[in-house]
Amino acid sequence: MTRAVTILGATGSIGQNTIDLIARDAGAYRVVALTGAGNVAQLAADAIRLRAEVAVTADPARYADLKAALAGSGVAAAAGSDALTEAASRPADWVMSAIVGSAGLAPGLAALEQGATLALANKESLVCAGALVLATAKAHGGRLLPVDSEHSAVFQALVGEDMGAVERVIITASGGAFRDWPVEALEHATLAEASSHPNWDMGQRITIDSASMFNKALELIETREYFGVRPDQIETIIHPESLIHAIVGFNDGALMAHVGPPDMRHAIGYALHWPERRRLPVARLDLAQVASLTFRAPDPARYPALRLAREVMDRGGLSGAVFNAAKERALDAFIAGRIRFTDMAAVVEEVLTRLQGESGLVDAAMTLDNVMQTDHLARVRADQVMAERAG
Ligand code: NAD
Ligand code: MG
Repeated sequence: MTRAVTILGATGSIGQNTIDLIARDAGAYRVVALTGAGNVAQLAADAIRLRAEVAVTADPARYADLKAALAGSGVAAAAGSDALTEAASRPADWVMSAIVGSAGLAPGLAALEQGATLALANKESLVCAGALVLATAKAHGGRLLPVDSEHSAVFQALVGEDMGAVERVIITASGGAFRDWPVEALEHATLAEASSHPNWDMGQRITIDSASMFNKALELIETREYFGVRPDQIETIIHPESLIHAIVGFNDGALMAHVGPPDMRHAIGYALHWPERRRLPVARLDLAQVASLTFRAPDPARYPALRLAREVMDRGGLSGAVFNAAKERALDAFIAGRIRFTDMAAVVEEVLTRLQGESGLVDAAMTLDNVMQTDHLARVRADQVMAERAG
């Protein structure tokens, strides 16, 4: 029996790795929808090769190009955010959520509403609207499987275990591009320097977020939302080799670590084949070659984003949506060369302070509308804060 699959964010790093796994066994799958944004040539080529029903670009300005690239192929073309959500709501058994940013939230919810299993790479969905995403999955009998490597690792370490026996969850971090830089040098870090990751090959945005550890900050919140553990049970540790992806600590003192090569096809493949394990085309580790695994505590001065994540977890409500949107906007500005690397955390902190103080905002009900309005407002405030700082 073939499985109907959709890939949201098919042209990105996670999307392409997902396509790699599916294309190896193409007869086992029927591709419903593939989505992308600017890269319509790649989107069209994959949609034709995988015989998708529909290809959707998020960017309406690219519709004509997409339609032309798909002419005569039998693959339908569509564009815009409503078309993305429509594509996600087409019946499918398994949907990969690999759009970057809060733009991934609405399509992911649409996939859950039609009862699909949602493989969630888009961590922003859980950061902005964890309770809403979990409730939507529950209400429609959809299942949510983690794809972020750390969360896939925790999920795997928990198989057969009782959550009541879990004492701690330790999320590992590579430390990113600047883990060995003097802290004083960080303010002069360039975009090129921030865009190279020591161990993982990922999209540019998450790579920069790894250097600032905003990525780990999002992952701490993601851990709390997905696994329902308390913030004080969640730890993070720098592990430069990136071979242990996470560790779960139990009430008898045992630590269960998930070890594997830094290749996202492991976590994607685990979510694709769950609850089975199947052979995956990832490297096998030679531990004698690896020789040693090292750990160190993260330096709070180097990684202020971790402290901000703790504040967001304590505050709860829609503060995750504020945090993520302010971070996305600050990251846009860093990529555009308008602010320095170290300004990103300062901007996010200021936006959090302002919006958490605004009456009732972060305590509003967690509906998609409220989350997206809060997301919008946080972006506006981030722009204001950056304009004031530029003075
Ligand atoms: P990427 O930048 O390589 O790809 C992003 C995808 O989203 C592309 O298909 C792009 O066309 C699409 N997209 C961008 N903006 C969009 C918008 N406004 N609306 C709709 N679609 C849009 O990103 P990535 O590295 O593949 O990451 C995707 C998600 O997975 C992110 O949430 C990231 O945090 C998460 N993730 C990635 C990795 C990794 O190894 N790359 C690991 C763990 C988690
Ligand atoms: Mg991760």
